[in-house]
Amino acid sequence: MKINQNYRNLKESYLFSDIARKVAAFASKYPEREILKMGIGDVTLPLAPAVVSAMEEAAREQGEKATFRGYGPEQGYPFLREAIRDYYKTFGVFLDADEIFVSDGAKSDLGNVLDLFGAENTVLIPDPVYPVYVDTNTMAGRKIVFAAANEQNGFLPMPDENIEADIIYICSPNNPTGAAYSVKQLRAWVEYANRRGAVILYDAAYESFVSEAGLARSIYEVEGARECAIEFCSFSKTAGFTGTRCGYTVVPFALEREGMNLHRMWLRRQTTKFNGVSYIVQRGAAAAFSSAGLEQIRQNISAYRANAKTICAALDGLKIWYTGGKNSPYVWLKCPGFSDSFAFFDYLLERAGVVGTPGGGFGRNGEGYFRLTAFADGATVQKACKKLQELFG
Ligand SMILES: *Cc1c(COP(=O)(O)O)cnc(C)c1O
Repeated sequence: MKINQNYRNLKESYLFSDIARKVAAFASKYPEREILKMGIGDVTLPLAPAVVSAMEEAAREQGEKATFRGYGPEQGYPFLREAIRDYYKTFGVFLDADEIFVSDGAKSDLGNVLDLFGAENTVLIPDPVYPVYVDTNTMAGRKIVFAAANEQNGFLPMPDENIEADIIYICSPNNPTGAAYSVKQLRAWVEYANRRGAVILYDAAYESFVSEAGLARSIYEVEGARECAIEFCSFSKTAGFTGTRCGYTVVPFALEREGMNLHRMWLRRQTTKFNGVSYIVQRGAAAAFSSAGLEQIRQNISAYRANAKTICAALDGLKIWYTGGKNSPYVWLKCPGFSDSFAFFDYLLERAGVVGTPGGGFGRNGEGYFRLTAFADGATVQKACKKLQELFG
């Protein structure tokens, strides 16, 4: 019996458990002090009323013989795939509903998609970034190279012809930096991938936060992307589904490598290893993209955007360098007076009761930076900003 030795190469991720432990220790040491939590990347506002009533109705259907449904299509119900296709149309991307695969979330698909690729490929991953890309490829034993994101490139690395990469990850708007690529910048990545015959894995989990014109909502806004890119998205941040679970992945018909069609490969993979998302959840997700649902989820996104704006205004006033916030629920700031983001975390907690996430936890280039999230409630954000002003003003 041989285990997968690649698991030995995983770095233990103590980041969020360490944070939780430190926050708990602080709370027991200072029971009277308020803790302002702006650390974890999870939504706080409830599901939209349209989503809740659609799921109630679907639950009732499941309780009646006449409307009960057993296994659904592995790829997702047509009503949801069509709703997603229509959502894409709102930003000028025209997909076929059959190119869309519904899943229980983007994280699963981002891991599962690696089934389609050989272990010999070299993977290019931005640094800093969402840790899932590094860990899933480490588990599979792939060679990983990094694209350095830093202050000089605005945390938006561009392709380097000297780097040999077969699988390229792009996360835009980025977690943790909040930086978002323009359509024009993505064109350079698409051209690079098509020249090399590489495949781009594009994570659009935060697309609904894009507010500036010219920035991409989808990689398919770029001509040629259908020949090289798979896109992952989710209802998690768009519609507060982090605990309800529903995502979607687009694998274009036109994506082919080594004489194989990746759309057909993914369909084969999903029909073999996946049995679809709960009918009730799919009804809820489709309701999020109904006209009433869209209006309601936009209100929540606006509330998070207002929080981000509050944080950015405070940092502007303090002349602290940051990126993100405008097209993302994340604000990524340069630790004032600290080069060690973990030391800055301790300082901020101890002195202000503010909890964020040390940038060093997202990759080597994240060191010296710090992530604050706008997913907290408005009052918490206001108080945290006041604390920052007292501390650094
Ligand atoms: C939150 C998040 C996702 C969404 O994951 P789900 O599994 O759909 O909840 C995907 N990518 C990034 C970068 C994220 O931050």
